[in-house]
Amino acid sequence: MKIKADYVNAPQWKELTVKSRLPEQLKCLDELAHNMWWAWNYEARDLWRSLDEDLYEEVGHNPVMLLERLSYDRKEEIVKNKTIIKRVKEVYSLFRNYMDVKPNSERPSVAYFSMEYGINQVLKIYSGGLGMLAGDYLKEASDSNVDMCAVGFLYRYGYFKQSLSMDGQQIANYDAQNFNSLPIERQLDKDGKPLVVAVPYMNYHVHAYVWRVNVGRISLYLLDTDNEMNSEFDKPITHSLYGGDWENRLKQEILLGIGGILTLKALGITKEIYHCNEGHAALCNLQRLCDYVQSGLTFNQAMELVRASSLYTVHTPVPAGHDYFDEALFGKYMSGYPQMLGISWDEFIGMGRTNPEDHGEKFCMSTFACNTCQEVNGVSKLHGWVSQKMFASIWKGYYPEENHVGYVTNGVHFPTWTATEWRKLYAQYFDETFMSDQSNESIWHAIYNVPDDVVWETRMTLKKKLTDYIRAKFRETWLKNQRDPSRVVSLLEKINPNALMIGFCRRFATYKRAHLLFTDLDRLSKIVNNPEHPVQFLFSGKAHPADGAGQGLIKKIFEISQRPEFLGKIIFLEDYDMQLARRLVSGVDIWMNTPTRPLEASGTSGEKAEMNGVVNLSVLDGWWLEGYREGAGWALTEKRTYKNQGYQDQLDAATIYSLLENEIVPLYYKKNKKGYSEGWIKVIKNSIAQIAPNYTMKRQLDDYYSKFYTKEAARFKKISADNNRLAKEIAQWKETVAERWDSINVVSKEHNIPATGAETGVSYKIKYVIDEQGLDNAVGLELVTIKTDKNREDSIFNVRPFNMTNNEGNLYTFEAEFEPDEAGSYKSCVRMYPKNENLPHRLDFCYVKWID
Ligand SMILES: *Cc1c(COP(=O)(O)O)cnc(C)c1O
Repeated sequence: MKIKADYVNAPQWKELTVKSRLPEQLKCLDELAHNMWWAWNYEARDLWRSLDEDLYEEVGHNPVMLLERLSYDRKEEIVKNKTIIKRVKEVYSLFRNYMDVKPNSERPSVAYFSMEYGINQVLKIYSGGLGMLAGDYLKEASDSNVDMCAVGFLYRYGYFKQSLSMDGQQIANYDAQNFNSLPIERQLDKDGKPLVVAVPYMNYHVHAYVWRVNVGRISLYLLDTDNEMNSEFDKPITHSLYGGDWENRLKQEILLGIGGILTLKALGITKEIYHCNEGHAALCNLQRLCDYVQSGLTFNQAMELVRASSLYTVHTPVPAGHDYFDEALFGKYMSGYPQMLGISWDEFIGMGRTNPEDHGEKFCMSTFACNTCQEVNGVSKLHGWVSQKMFASIWKGYYPEENHVGYVTNGVHFPTWTATEWRKLYAQYFDETFMSDQSNESIWHAIYNVPDDVVWETRMTLKKKLTDYIRAKFRETWLKNQRDPSRVVSLLEKINPNALMIGFCRRFATYKRAHLLFTDLDRLSKIVNNPEHPVQFLFSGKAHPADGAGQGLIKKIFEISQRPEFLGKIIFLEDYDMQLARRLVSGVDIWMNTPTRPLEASGTSGEKAEMNGVVNLSVLDGWWLEGYREGAGWALTEKRTYKNQGYQDQLDAATIYSLLENEIVPLYYKKNKKGYSEGWIKVIKNSIAQIAPNYTMKRQLDDYYSKFYTKEAARFKKISADNNRLAKEIAQWKETVAERWDSINVVSKEHNIPATGAETGVSYKIKYVIDEQGLDNAVGLELVTIKTDKNREDSIFNVRPFNMTNNEGNLYTFEAEFEPDEAGSYKSCVRMYPKNENLPHRLDFCYVKWID
């Protein structure tokens, strides 16, 4: 036998994490690093920096990595350094004092679901505004000490890092995240083993690990499918944000909604309210329905309980932005659910259709959310109205202005977004109750007592910080991208903290119209190149890798920025993220936003600017429509002048140029002997006093409680009491009404309106007798009047209720009296609807019969 030349078996690698050992005095830092509390407490961030400034920069401000990589010698030094050890103790006790407060049990508890969370740039599980909002929300929930937990994904690749090629083409780089170096912890089960959640997909399960992010007092659970238990087909479910095809998206949404609820169940967590941040998470209600049905309730009873305890927040103002799945794909994954729920497939998929019987219609996650959540809201007043219209076709029989879709205007987390310099200034001048009463405008009015010099110095400090940051951070990047070194140097030299600086930084979606400023390059060149009154524009933002038009915009701006007349005047800063955003929203003078109306649902970056004495120049869309005050920033009117978008763009651009030329630049440069413009300081003070207080995340959280959570929790408690007695009664009542609805009929009607028409000032009577078919006073009638106006869509003019005046057996008499007070041309009709005081609102049981 020939001896084999080699004979080797495969190694069975075991995973082994080696943790860097911390000396006893520094042990507490490990706990501190693993709670994101440091992300919004500068005392903690200053402490990390003091441990090793260079290393802190090198690890991108990630304290977990910092501690891991701290050299033995440096640790020895730190332990001997009394000042640092004292700081360690102080910061740790600040943290413990914060953590040791018991949660407020008076406010309802909430489970929050979102596809992304922007908590800190270290944790790349966000892409834009939606994530920022969710991250800020959790931080405020922690500060306000409410009982909340949240579910999301731990993305292996996170959102991409952006660089530009020499000609301005966006390059997206996806770096794999090493989960062990992130400020997160593996969630263990009760046996101390990594918790695994098995989520049903078709005829098998996908297994997810669960990681926990401690967001102060709040736990955020992140699911992770990138592990050996899953096939190559399923590992990528949590690879990237908004990546992959529709099938991957559906698989993600199953994981978020269904997997999310299963995670909470595995952890033994139940909450009073389930809040879907955007439609992605809507399937959480499907799992909750299944759980109730499994516990012995009927589908209709389960629906009462699920609806009563859920809220859907929509962020997308156009139908095209929502998720639709065609029946074949949806059926592939979901075909087992109808049987579990005791309903038919058509009934099931119909919950995601505006017209349930239309078999061609795709399943829309947002429609499913509207159908399974009692309450729905948009994210600003205008967007609330846009959403009312967008969803109106789900609730036929009612006009958009009648449906229950409400709004809560987005806010931002004050401690995260306000520069330390401003926080210290506010702490010095504002009432000591300020932090716990942040949305109280009267406290903020103390800004008027701050000397102008102090305001200006604070602004200049932050402008200089921004310019230093740009010089330090981008020098290398730009040289590495093989740009002409002498040009890079000259560009960096031109960055001038004494110039009027305007920031335009956000995702490059085309509706945000980043190109608007470049409509007339000659005029723009005159503005930026005025030798006495220079102006600089800083642009930053990523375009979705699949959005060619957005990338085209970046390229165009980059090209313009390279022209001699714009070099150092129009600057594009790569890789917009939370860290760069924090510098920019506090470092520029003006924050500009030019969305196409009404597509900016809210926008939040301008709110961040307000807290830093940076004033807004923006289209009156989203939050700015509510926020703008005269003398506290600049606004482009919300009225659309032209239907043609090209004309509208030109008009809006001309408005921006002339605002800059005639108002903004002259005001900024009207400097006094001390080198600043008193008029400008006035604008800053006005915007801090009158605008900033209304856009804190505290105000937003309080609004969610007062508008939705508290009301829903109270109703849920009522209908679920006594073994769900009332929920069962309502379901039973709806079933009976539904059964008899078609047979309810008009027995007689009378009115005294002359055939020739009604007259103003005269009172008319209308009377109907309705046969309710054995129902007990179960319907209401109202007279709906529409104003017919040839130039506009019909809009509702008036709704007049009928009184039920008599009842004999099945016959109910309804009477109304009306007196027209405005002449004109109208249409009217009588609307019959099911009436029950236990319903939260009419749309909850949207049966309507128009009778004549
Ligand atoms: C605040 C923020 C956003 C959202 O800003 P918009 O005004 O909604 O565009 C997006 N990305 C980052 C990094 C942010 O900080």
